[in-house]
Amino acid sequence: MSGFIFSEKPIRIDRGEGAYLYDTNGNEYLDFGASYACTPVGHCHPEVVDAATTQLEDLFYVQASYPHAARTALYEQLADVAPVDIDNVWLCNSGTEANEAALKFARHATGRSKIVATKRGFHGRTMGALAATWKDKYKEGFGPLAGDFEFVEYGDSEAMAEAVDDDTAAVIIEPLQGEGGINPVSKEYLQSVRVQTATSGAALILDEIQTGLGRTGELWAADKYDVVPDVLTTAKGLASGLPMGATLCRDWIAEDSGNHGSTFSGGPVVSAAAGATLDVLERESLPAHAAEVGAYIRGQIEDRLGDDVREVRGHGLMIGIEVKRGSNRLLRDLALNHDVLALPAGRTVLRLLPPLTIEREHADAFVDALEAVLA
Ligand SMILES: *Cc1c(COP(=O)(O)O)cnc(C)c1O
Repeated sequence: MSGFIFSEKPIRIDRGEGAYLYDTNGNEYLDFGASYACTPVGHCHPEVVDAATTQLEDLFYVQASYPHAARTALYEQLADVAPVDIDNVWLCNSGTEANEAALKFARHATGRSKIVATKRGFHGRTMGALAATWKDKYKEGFGPLAGDFEFVEYGDSEAMAEAVDDDTAAVIIEPLQGEGGINPVSKEYLQSVRVQTATSGAALILDEIQTGLGRTGELWAADKYDVVPDVLTTAKGLASGLPMGATLCRDWIAEDSGNHGSTFSGGPVVSAAAGATLDVLERESLPAHAAEVGAYIRGQIEDRLGDDVREVRGHGLMIGIEVKRGSNRLLRDLALNHDVLALPAGRTVLRLLPPLTIEREHADAFVDALEAVLA
C-alpha cells in the first residue's frame, strides 16, 4: 500500500484545528484537501470533540437491537435534514458500505439486477461499489465483480435513456463527480435521469458521499438540483472523520430492502459525533457560507490566475482547477514550499475540499500560494 504523493518526504501530521493541520515539528499547514472532505466543520471542532468524548466515557458500543439515545437522535436528525420523503436511515461505517447497501436495497426492492453507472464515476472499493466504479485501475485483478453493471457517458441523457430499461434495478450517480475530475452536469440532465428511472421503475441512487453535507453550497446537491432520489448516500465528513456512512431511503425501498446488517451500525460514539457535526453545520449555516466563500475563491483564481490555469469548475467548496501541467508536482510544491495541502483528481486537476468554515483570508492564502507555484 503506497502511492502517497509526497512519499519521498513524508509530512507527519499529528494535530489538527479548524482549517489547519500541524506536523510533528510544529509546522502549520492550511488544509484545503480536508482529508478527502472528512472535516466539514474543521478539524477537532470543540463541540464534536466534546460529544464524542462524553459518549466514549459512558459507553463505547451497544448492539443496534437496543435503542440508544445517540443513535435514535441521529436517525431523527438525518430524517429531518434529508430531502423530502427520504427519511428511512441505514447507518454504516464508510462510503463504500453506504453504496453497497444502496445497491442491495435497490435490487431487493425492484427484484431486478442491472445497475447503470456513469463513466468516470467513483463509488467505493468493496465488490458492489467497485463494480459501479469506472476506472479499471481500481478493479484490476479483483474480478469477477458483482455482475450486470453498465456504464454510460456522464451528462448524456440520451445514453442514459437507452441504458435504463425494464431490467434496471438502479442508476447510481454522483450529482457532481469528485474523484473523476470535478465534473459538473446540468440540472436538466439530473432531472431527466430522475424521470427516466421513475418511468422504468428503477431506483435513483444519488451518491452524495463527496457532494453532501453542505459541500456544494446546499446541504445536499439534491436540493441544489431539485432532484429527489429514491436513495441518497452520505459518509466522509458525516461524523467529522470518525467512520460513518448513511443510506437514506424512501419508503418503497426501505419496506422491501431484504436482510442487511452491520455490527457497528450507528455505534454511540460515532452517532454522537455525527449529531454534533450536523448541529454545527446547521446552526452556523455552513452550506450558505460554502457557497459564498467558494464563489469568492473561484473568482479570485479566474481573475488572478486565469492565464495559468485551463479551467476552474465546481460548486461551493468542491472545486476543481484544471492546470496545464501535472497536478502531482504542483501539489508537492504547495505542500513542501507553501504549507498548503490539496488533492489531485486525475493527472491535471487540483481538487479543493476545504472545511466549510474557511474565511476569505484562507482563500487568499491559498490563491497566493497557487500563484507562487504556478509562476
Ligand atoms: C469517497 C467516496 C466513496 C467511498 O467512500 P469510502 O468511505 O472511502 O468507502 C464513494 N463515493 C464517492 C462519491 C466518494 O467520494
